[in-house]
Amino acid sequence: MLEVTSIKKGIVLDHITVGNGLKIFNKLMLDQVDYPVVLLMNVPSKAMGRKDIIKIENNIDIDLAFLGLIDDSITVNIIKEGKLGQKKKVEIPKNVKGLFSCHNPRCITNFDDYVKPEFELVSSDTLSYQCEYCEEITEYKI
Ligand SMILES: [Zn+2]
Repeated sequence: MLEVTSIKKGIVLDHITVGNGLKIFNKLMLDQVDYPVVLLMNVPSKAMGRKDIIKIENNIDIDLAFLGLIDDSITVNIIKEGKLGQKKKVEIPKNVKGLFSCHNPRCITNFDDYVKPEFELVSSDTLSYQCEYCEEITEYKI
């Protein structure tokens, strides 16, 4: 295995589908933080062939729904005092609030700052979500 500084406390996002690591890194704006972060790409994996990994040396709140939306193969490992504390598998969220905007240009959520878009999952194959306000279907794309 590739030897990279192991972290003492923080979060390791493991089993990221190859190619999604950089997208998640950018979405979480990890290029702008002042604590150590590592992005590993194309790491050999028994289960997946190849995978991406992100290590974050800080206890930050990560939105599991958001990660599940981008890539539902991710495992979130919480590291405490150099040991694995908790392991969580992300899932495609059934309900989403405010993570993306409604496809319908006339939808109230697109021009009223006080109304956050809310969606319900209608198809996990295409990541299609139905807007709670206008019922329009939006397909989520990274
Ligand atoms: Zn809408």
